[in-house]
Amino acid sequence: MKNKVLKNIILIFLSFLVISAVFTLFNPQTLQKNKEVSLSSLSQEITQSSIKEIRVAGDKITATDNQGQKTISRKESGVSLNETLKGYGVSEDQIKAINITIEEEKQGLMGWLLPLSLILPVIIFALFFWVIARQAKGGGGGGLGFLKAPAKLFGDGKEEKKTEKVSFDDIAGVEEAKDEIKEVVDFLKNPKKYQTLGARIPRGVLLVGPPGVGKTLLARAVANEAKVPFFSIVGSEFIELFVGVGASRTRALFLEAKKHQPCIIFIDELDAIGKMRMPGVGGGHEEREQTLNQILAEMDGFERDTNIIILAATNKPESLDPALLRPGRFDRRVVLDLPDVKGREEILQIHCKGKPLDTSAKISEVAERTPGFSGADLANLVNEAAILTAKKNKAAISQTELLESIEKVLLGPERKSHLLSEKEKEISAFHEAGHALAAASLPHAEEVRKISIVARGMAAGYTLSLPKKEKRIKTKSEFLAELAVLLAGYTAERLTYKELSTGAANDLEKASELARDLVTKYGMAKFGPIVFGTRESMSFLGWEQETEKNYSEKTAAEIDEEVAKFIKEAENTAVRVLTQKKALLARIAKVLVEKETIEKEEFEEIIKK
Ligand code: ADP
Ligand code: MG
Ligand code: ZN
Repeated sequence: MKNKVLKNIILIFLSFLVISAVFTLFNPQTLQKNKEVSLSSLSQEITQSSIKEIRVAGDKITATDNQGQKTISRKESGVSLNETLKGYGVSEDQIKAINITIEEEKQGLMGWLLPLSLILPVIIFALFFWVIARQAKGGGGGGLGFLKAPAKLFGDGKEEKKTEKVSFDDIAGVEEAKDEIKEVVDFLKNPKKYQTLGARIPRGVLLVGPPGVGKTLLARAVANEAKVPFFSIVGSEFIELFVGVGASRTRALFLEAKKHQPCIIFIDELDAIGKMRMPGVGGGHEEREQTLNQILAEMDGFERDTNIIILAATNKPESLDPALLRPGRFDRRVVLDLPDVKGREEILQIHCKGKPLDTSAKISEVAERTPGFSGADLANLVNEAAILTAKKNKAAISQTELLESIEKVLLGPERKSHLLSEKEKEISAFHEAGHALAAASLPHAEEVRKISIVARGMAAGYTLSLPKKEKRIKTKSEFLAELAVLLAGYTAERLTYKELSTGAANDLEKASELARDLVTKYGMAKFGPIVFGTRESMSFLGWEQETEKNYSEKTAAEIDEEVAKFIKEAENTAVRVLTQKKALLARIAKVLVEKETIEKEEFEEIIKK
């Protein structure tokens, strides 16, 4: 964009150069090759009878002598040639002897160059501003330019590219949401059916769900299947450098939409504009507020028979202004959740379509191993597996690549080049063996799937564990077991080496955070069913959320005590388990140093012995 402006400026500058070159070239001064003489010398020549012919054009006198040589002279304007010559002492007869022609005053080059030289800069400036203005619009809209919403129109208006077409069949694992959305689309297709029953068509539908579950994807499917115009805009696009642009874009967007009824407006990432309105912080908020107010005003302004449905997506519904959620606005909420096993399998199937799968590939097993993965994670997983297969120059994706991709998506790529020294390897092995052994020994802990001391992403080694069964809620016993498992790495190092390393830093951080949540969020400590520090506010300067203390200093100290107690208890559990099975711990660590990675089956084999 910037480049383009620069190019245009250079172009205009060049045309300036060319024009001025033309000016100089055709300048009368340069053009005149004829000799210019004074009136007195011309008169003299006339008296000597050497002039044959004179042409007069305005004040310009062109004289041709007997040899055909032309000379040019100028007379005073308003005075006739006769009088002028007489004044120089040329006699009447001598004048009559010359062939004099009076010509229409020729508009010399100078005649039109002069006004042109005045107008041309104006034209060039106008051109210049036109180019700049066109660029500022960025190709979108037209008319008011950037004040208009950069909404994209799909559906009836312009066809989406074929490769981008998404249908409801391309989305899996969110059946309820799909059904709900299909119903909404039906409102638009058959409004009469609902209106005769006096039903009010929902104005706003809010798609809520964690990132990557397919909210945007679902909206795109609606765009494709609804067969009505579909305006799509991302929340952050409303917010610009200039205050007021957002509100103005909103107005333009709704105005345009009203012309295209029935239609759908999709606002993606609504939280970017719809953040809770908080008094007095930063200018960005005022802009948000204006934009939001405009949206609310537009939605309230809909007539009963307005056939516009507003679809919006957000992954932070709690940060939305309650005003947005009032009936008559976004009165329907469609929740998209992380997919369960069945959903994950279907999503994997969708993304494996068109990719060559080896007979060893078992999608159902991959689905089992990936609780907590979103649709986007699964899409990423399949893609990573394909890349991995290509790297190995294999023809089809096999189970090995699929399983390896799970860890890659979870923890980042393996860092085989990150070589550990023998000592580091051993410490790492005992650390991970500690985690694994504790997990295997505690009944409420998750199941160990894989142990590895190959560095991956930020982790020097890792123990992959998953819940035995998928579930939505977690109990206190499970949390306590999780805490103990987290601390078991640290404990294993301490018991074995009587020394600590930095390798446990991440575990300790997670454990402390979890322990604090147990006390302040889940009501699992001595305080009973009370939560602490719920009031959240924007910090003064940044965007960070800050939790405001809504409890006394005394309580704060007690909370700290409770957190420390949880940690201490968890450590005690870990110490108890690991001292009891010291020999087993050493055996697991030894195998780990040798093989670097132990899979679930092998691990179970070792602890059975
Ligand atoms: P978000 O909910 O954050 O808007 P997206 O809709 O952008 O998530 O999803 C990102 C990508 O993840 C999609 O393009 C698609 O490839 C994949 N994906 C997410 N959810 C699903 C799903 N339910 N079914 C199939 N693919 C999905
Ligand atoms: Mg999205
Ligand atoms: Zn650890």
